[in-house]
Parts: sequence; structure tokens; C-alpha cells
Amino acid sequence: MLLRLALVLCLTFAAGKVVFIAPAQAQSTAEEEANRRANVLEKTPEWAAKVQFGKRNTPASSLEARAIGSYARGCLAGATALPVDGATWQVMRRNRNRMWGHPDLIAYLEAFAKAAPRVANWPGILVGDISQARGGPMLTGHASHQIGLDADIWLTPMPQGRLGHDQRENMPATNMVRPDWMDVNTAAWTASHTRLVLHAARDRRVHRIFVNPAIKVAMCREAGADRAGLNKVRPMWGHNYHFHIRMACPDGSETCQDQDAPPDGDGCGKELSDWLATQQKAIFAPKRPSTGPPPKPKPPMSVDALPAECRQVLVAR
Ligand SMILES: [Zn+2]
Repeated sequence: MLLRLALVLCLTFAAGKVVFIAPAQAQSTAEEEANRRANVLEKTPEWAAKVQFGKRNTPASSLEARAIGSYARGCLAGATALPVDGATWQVMRRNRNRMWGHPDLIAYLEAFAKAAPRVANWPGILVGDISQARGGPMLTGHASHQIGLDADIWLTPMPQGRLGHDQRENMPATNMVRPDWMDVNTAAWTASHTRLVLHAARDRRVHRIFVNPAIKVAMCREAGADRAGLNKVRPMWGHNYHFHIRMACPDGSETCQDQDAPPDGDGCGKELSDWLATQQKAIFAPKRPSTGPPPKPKPPMSVDALPAECRQVLVAR
């Protein structure tokens, strides 16, 4: 039970303190996802940005393609969808309708997928969540993925042949992390995984990649003498079933707010060991909840909390 809880636990650091955020569950089935979505819709006021953006199924095509705001507070105009099938990729969980992105990200993903057979000797990649049709916050999962520049790629290789509808919605992803959360499970993780993730990290257009700290341990060991790109591979909670590619703001994109560059060095030293210790503690020795009344839940982000242009994105054709 504890472990199951831990698997769905997803936290992030903000200004030095630990904040709990909704988990990004690439692996949940269609039924689990539908239940979670219904539950959130029932409890969330209509004015919440996640309700407004979560209900838009088509892109704001009349607007020029733009990522607006920051990765965890923004929206997306003129989105393009990644086709659900390519020679070297297949989109998973397509019922969620989260295969939309900035055209630059979609072009990047197509090229990345094409390289997978050469780089990793995989038939191709399985693509998880990108963004909603107009970006913005989602009803379930993900604090980021709001501006069409984030994409989750499964750590399970694409199988030979096409997956059927039911498999795309329900096939489980593989947990790459060992039960003690200190290293990878060698029955699942391979050197090809390291090569593929590093290949993504070495692209100039990629700003960061998120993997579980235990996965970074394996990558630090397997990267060998050429450490290029390792600094962009950042340890993060969750991300044990998929890795997360974050693209930098496209050139000339004034409405898009970039993050600072990751620190220099390969990130394989103290930063990583601190992450492992923090993760272990959160999973195996979680703080006991206090006995007082439960804290009031924070109100959801409103549409007004997003950049003003996101109002146009909501109503545009
Ligand atoms: Zn992600």
C-alpha cells in the first residue's frame, strides 16, 4: 500500500519547500483516468482554468502559433497535433486528446522518433501526454505541459506493429526503478535507454529532460567519457515510467517565458545523492499527518491568473 501510494506521489520543489502536486500518470488506464476526471470536474468551479481549458477539444487555429507564458502557467495558440501514427511512433492514451503542441515541438518529436531505431535500436517510441488543444492547466495530472513545449515519452520501446485501440488506452507502462528507489531495475532498463535520453538532451532545442533520480544514477554510470547533455537530464519525482522532454522557447517567441539554464557540470554528484535521500525519505518514512483539521485545499488557478492573452486563446476559433 505504501509503495502504491508512493508511486502516485509526485512532488516538486518550489522556492526551497516541498509542494505536493497532482501526479502525472502516464500509466493509468482509461477507466482510472475517466474516474479521476469526473471526480475533479465535480469538485472544481466552472471559472477554474483547468475546467475552461480542459473542455476545449480543438485548437485556436485562427491564431498564429505561440507558446504563451511559462511551462506551468500559460496556454497555447495555433497548436498542431502529432499524428497518432508515424512509421517510428505511436501516440498512447489518445482518448485524453493531449497530443497537441507548438509546431516546433511536433516537428522535433517527429525527427526524434525517426532517430530512435538508429540511436537505440528501438522500432520507435510511444508518445504520452503533450498538451491540450489550447494548452493551459489540465483536469488531471501535470503541473506543467501548459504551453505546448513539454512531451512525455514512454520508457517502454514501441513494439513492432501497431497497437490496437484497447492497448493504446490500457497497456501498462514499465516501471524502470528498483523497489528501493536507488537505482534502475536492470530487468527493464538497458544501455539503449541511456543512449536515447542522452540523444534527446544533446539537441540544442531541448532545454531540460526530467527522469527519476534513480534513472539519473544509471545514466551517470552508463554515459561514459562523453558527458555532454547529462546536465540537462534533471532528477525529478515520478518519471519512472516515462521521461519528459522540455523544449526551450522557440526562437523569436516573445510571449514564451524561458527557465534558467540548468547548472553546469554533469549533476552526478551531491545534487543527485541529495535527491535520492529525499526521495527515499518521502517514500519510506513519510511525515505523519498532523492530527488537527485537514488544511483547506488551495483554490484552483483561475483564468485570470494566466497571461491575459490566454483569454483570447480560449475564445478564438
Ligand atoms: Zn511530463
